[in-house]
Amino acid sequence: MTEISGPGGPLPAIPDDLSLVQFMLDYRHPSRPSVAQPDTWLIEDSTGRRVTVDEIRTRVEALANAFKIRWNIEEDDVICIFSPNHIDYPVTVWAAHRLGATLTTSNPAFTAVELQYQLKLTKARAVVVHPSNLHVALDAARAVGIPAERIVLFDVPGISIGSQATVSEFVGEGMTKPLSFTERRLQPGEARTKLAFLSLSSGTTGRPKAVCIPHISPIANVIMMAHAANLQTGPLEKRSYRPGDVGMALLPFYHIYGLVVVMHFAIFYGMTLVVIPKFSFSDMLKSIERHKINYIPVVPPIVVLLCKHPDVLKYDLSSLHALKSGAAPLTAELIKQLSERFPRMSIGQSYGMTETCTTVTFPQLDMHIGTPGSAGRLLPGVRAKVIDPDGKLLGYEQPGQLVVWSPANALGYLNNAQATKETFVDGWIYTGDEVVINEQKDIFVVDRIKELLKVRGFQVAPAELEGHLLDHPDVTDVCVVGLPDEYSGEVPLAFVVPTMATVQRMQKDPEEEARVKLSIMKHVSDAKVNYKQLAGGVEFIDSIPKNPSGKLLRRFLRDRAREMQAAG
Ligand code: AMP
Repeated sequence: MTEISGPGGPLPAIPDDLSLVQFMLDYRHPSRPSVAQPDTWLIEDSTGRRVTVDEIRTRVEALANAFKIRWNIEEDDVICIFSPNHIDYPVTVWAAHRLGATLTTSNPAFTAVELQYQLKLTKARAVVVHPSNLHVALDAARAVGIPAERIVLFDVPGISIGSQATVSEFVGEGMTKPLSFTERRLQPGEARTKLAFLSLSSGTTGRPKAVCIPHISPIANVIMMAHAANLQTGPLEKRSYRPGDVGMALLPFYHIYGLVVVMHFAIFYGMTLVVIPKFSFSDMLKSIERHKINYIPVVPPIVVLLCKHPDVLKYDLSSLHALKSGAAPLTAELIKQLSERFPRMSIGQSYGMTETCTTVTFPQLDMHIGTPGSAGRLLPGVRAKVIDPDGKLLGYEQPGQLVVWSPANALGYLNNAQATKETFVDGWIYTGDEVVINEQKDIFVVDRIKELLKVRGFQVAPAELEGHLLDHPDVTDVCVVGLPDEYSGEVPLAFVVPTMATVQRMQKDPEEEARVKLSIMKHVSDAKVNYKQLAGGVEFIDSIPKNPSGKLLRRFLRDRAREMQAAG
């Protein structure tokens, strides 16, 4: 095997002179299904409110106008969205793009310190926030010098928060006041460089970085997915992805998977999305029953629950037609169990990264469950190779690092030439994932070479936790690794070298060790979002193994953690 590429012949042309909002609202690409698109694009889960495309168009224009009037948003200004999924999330993204601004979307569970890091990194100038996140947003904004007037709230029925303006108030003002902006249109080729998003990812090593995602990336990825879906054969009602279906928008829009695959692709492909802000498994089942949801993009922990949770039997889930899992590995065994529970649902996996914006593989849509355990096959337009640690090309069935080229690949990391150089090479991306590709071109992700941990599909950067743990008075050195976990995929475990004084205290008092461990865990839980917490525990160690040049031997400790786990 030298290089493999996705099926389907040449891709339809990818426009390079459109912004994402124009691509979604003003333009009809040939890969968009030609059957009548539904008027309702979004449904608010809790209220059942249906949002039509006309309403979205009106709100986008009005909000863009208000952003200009109130905040004087200019070319390349960065607006942060700090919120769970909300029906005005797409409106906000598209309004910002009308002005030539860039979005950075943030995990609503972040602490003020984590949000502050993102606001600073991306130099955000304003924040759109859910009322439940307002206090954290105010704290973080204050710390980076964003005034409170530059924070606007998503509207939530029944909740009003003092003097803080809401998006609906902005929209009202934007509708009544004269147009104050000229739409930012792109020159031919400009979509390749003009930034649409700055999304966080830690990449192969180090702390979270801002990935520079130009407009063409999500546009290309949507076209690639639509092209793959258009290759489906057989009657429409039997196909896995069908225009007219109702899709579930539960995966967070702040993450690239929710943003591109759920929000943009599903709408583009003619589905109506039920927007669900918060994950609760039984509420999710109720929503599937209530809205007769057909298509559910999920992450592996949701598959675990669908396989095992008794509540699944309490609801009528017969509308379910297709499930797609991504963002973390899903085993063949789970897929088998799921297909036994849902024999009529097609089940597939896809694989991608923030840096590849987003998916580079897709399930075999004409097959009921594809090849179990495989993360799918390459999407049309993607090229891939597998290399050994010296960069030598490997063949079928040989495990090695996956390197991919895609028309959707991002440009690099913001203000970080070194990390960019290591991952983005001549348009190819070094994924840091170890894969095996079989002769049928099924891709199996077998391991991760990079430091990154994936906890319930969320990124956890060991370097971020290690930096934070070094601030703890009992810690002199530390290494964080992932411990396998059935539900979360993996959970962080910290190997800690205690200070001399701590060792002496622990030697004197047998209870001190437990106290120190608890205090270290609390140090993390006080400052970091829940999935970054040390659910795998703290283990004391004499020294962190390093190679002669001082590089941390993370794999050695990861294997040791697994052995300890196996030994109980
Ligand atoms: P993110 O940038 O947060 O989407 O994380 C990308 C990483 O998630 C990849 O480099 C993989 O390590 C992991 N990942 C994504 N999809 C899959 C999948 N289907 N199977 C295994 N790992 C996956």
